[in-house]
Formats: sequence, C-alpha cells, structure tokens
Amino acid sequence: MTAPAPQQDWPPLSPIRTGIRGRCPRCGKGRLFNGFLTLRDRCDHCGLDYGYADPADGPAFFVICFGCVPAVIFTLWIQLRYDPPAWVHLVTSLPFLLLTCILPLRPLKGWLVCSQYFFNSGEGRLARDPEDRR
Ligand SMILES: [Zn+2]
Repeated sequence: MTAPAPQQDWPPLSPIRTGIRGRCPRCGKGRLFNGFLTLRDRCDHCGLDYGYADPADGPAFFVICFGCVPAVIFTLWIQLRYDPPAWVHLVTSLPFLLLTCILPLRPLKGWLVCSQYFFNSGEGRLARDPEDRR
C-alpha cells in the first residue's frame, strides 16, 4: 500500500466511468475492489475510506431486472420455438444466464458505490435543530 496522497482538491469524477472500471470515486486511480465483489477498506492511492459504501442489494436488483428476465425470456423462447432436448439448454441457456447475471455485478456495484460518494448519499438522520441540516 502506498502512502496517501497529500490533501488536495479532487475534481468530480463521473460515477459511471470510475464505477464500471472499479476505481476510486475520489481520485479515479485507486482500486475499489479486493477480489470480485469485496470492497477494500480504503483507496490505495488517495486513502479515501470506503466505510460509507453500502450498495446493499442494489446490484442484485439491477441484475434481476436487466439480466435474469432477458435470460428467462431467451430460455422460454428456445423451449417454445424449438422444443429441444435438455442438453441444449445446458449449452445455450445456462451460459447466457450466467453471463447476464454474474458479469454485470461488479460494474454495477462499483457504479452504485461511486454514485454514493458523488451524490454524498447516506442513511437519513433526524435534524436536532434547524442549523443541523445538510
Ligand atoms: Zn482514491
């Protein structure tokens, strides 16, 4: 791990560009992930603490909506159109399902984490007094 970069003003970076590439939302150079889907504790370039990041089920939701549904439609179309034996689904439907459901998880998680940083989002909290609003 390198020493954190000195304090400086960071230009706003596109959450889509940094998130899809799995890069730090602040500097765009450090890595966001440690493995396939595990977030690092902090950026290895600028030292940004990733403790704020909580995409929860967001990546899975998008994968279900935009990956699983087309894969199921594709499988049903093959079955209804050609009525193939089961092994055909093992070489067509199953790989399509795995590709559309597993591959998008990492870029989607990166995009959501970077969007959280970009929009400074977090859990809601009660304002104690009128001056305590953000
Ligand atoms: Zn960074």
